[in-house]
Amino acid sequence: MFKPLDFDNRYARLGEPYASRVTATPVPAPYVVSVNPDALELLDLTQEDARRPEFVEYFSGNRALPGSEPVAALYAGHQFGHYVPQLGDGRALLLGEARNGRGNGWEVQLKGAGKTPYSRGGDGRAVLRSSIREYLCSEAMHGLGIPTTRALCIIGTDLPVYREEDETGAIVTRLAPSFLRFGSFEAFFYRGQREALKTLADFALAHYFPEQREAPDPYGALLQEVVRRTARLMAQWQAVGFSHGVMNTDNMSLLGLTLDYGPYGFMDAFDPGYICNHSDSYGRYAFDQQPDIGGWNLACLAQALSPLLEADAAQAALQTYAPVFTDAYAQLMAAKIGLDADAETADLLAGLLRLLAQNRVDYTNFFRRLGGFDSSPDARNAPLRDLFLDRTAFDAWATRYAAALRARHSADAVRRAAMNQVNPKYVLRNHLAEIAIRKARDERDYGEIERLRALLSRPCDEQPQFEAYAAEPPDWAQHIEVSCSS
Ligand code: AMP
Ligand code: MG
Repeated sequence: MFKPLDFDNRYARLGEPYASRVTATPVPAPYVVSVNPDALELLDLTQEDARRPEFVEYFSGNRALPGSEPVAALYAGHQFGHYVPQLGDGRALLLGEARNGRGNGWEVQLKGAGKTPYSRGGDGRAVLRSSIREYLCSEAMHGLGIPTTRALCIIGTDLPVYREEDETGAIVTRLAPSFLRFGSFEAFFYRGQREALKTLADFALAHYFPEQREAPDPYGALLQEVVRRTARLMAQWQAVGFSHGVMNTDNMSLLGLTLDYGPYGFMDAFDPGYICNHSDSYGRYAFDQQPDIGGWNLACLAQALSPLLEADAAQAALQTYAPVFTDAYAQLMAAKIGLDADAETADLLAGLLRLLAQNRVDYTNFFRRLGGFDSSPDARNAPLRDLFLDRTAFDAWATRYAAALRARHSADAVRRAAMNQVNPKYVLRNHLAEIAIRKARDERDYGEIERLRALLSRPCDEQPQFEAYAAEPPDWAQHIEVSCSS
């Protein structure tokens, strides 16, 4: 027997208009593509459970998980700057909240399990390609210590799903303490439903923000905390070279998690204006725009919560965004070069990022190699120097860096160990995901998905047998295009 999950379906209990009852639409011939052992543990499930025939039935949506009450959530959102009054889970089904033996609650969501009242013109489905991308990246982000939704499994099906062409359909199961979005609140604000807005904010406070609930102004404290988490999240994305691609307010998590992996990308060669989403013609969500967009999105949330806020609370909360971001980013970047955050470090970093951009140096590999920097006066640091076309400019920077290290009595070996804890060796480069996708699609070989998942769950550890996975992208990777089509 498959061990039943301990469901408590509090979001479903909110009922209409927050949550609409739905049932998954069955798919033909579902099969397991990948199961994440780390996420199984979050639900107190075992590998043996995952091998049972019921597993594939439950997580394809073909059979209802005992105790679950599937719903689709209502939300709205600003998409590319424009307000869209009704979005909602168009292809995601929230099965309920499963509580594990350690007392942690995980909302379990099937993405791609069929139409809902919010599907609009869509088919309610997801394709294997994008399900693999979501599954791998959410686990890679978790491995990097960046707040994110998690992924339990991918189930494939013989149901063809049409995008630009027929593709293989799939269902990916995601986990998060809550999938509430900024857009969940915007929906009620723009409808003028103050009571509904309050109910939802009280729900969030009661279950996810117990500390803020006790504050003198709970709604102000809630906004303040979301500002803080979002600022920190943006700093983490920037430090690791991650672009989300579609930072619409419906894709912004109230809990400060990375949410909705579509056309995201990790940067290879450093390019501040990097646009990972092929559909983002104007670069609204370009890499270097992300911190500002985070602030813009928070202003939308503040606006949505304004009927509940005391005078000036929104302004006060929003004003903390820039300093929290700047401080978090300064700390993270300073750690990447093995120094404390101060004015000299900031200056070194500014010069370095300019150099990396000018020379289109691989972002991940540069910082990883920098861990091996030799700070003695006559060192050449050839492995780093070789990454630059303009070696004279690198030498000038390296001389300043070495002097700063020596002035602070930084021991090379000690610094290296610390830097290797924060500068990943392995990130989910686009071409790595693409190889896993092609093997799955063309050969029904899912081994690469699991290899990548396992590798990226420990991105800072040397894993010599996977050295090739740290390499810069091959030439063919230039032609990979990722768009909103998923
Ligand atoms: P996304 O760009 O994936 O964040 O999706 C934006 C909105 O479109 C959300 O409300 C989704 O639920 C909805 N959506 C995206 N793809 C589909 C689809 N294939 N079928 C139904 N709804 C979809
Ligand atoms: Mg979305």
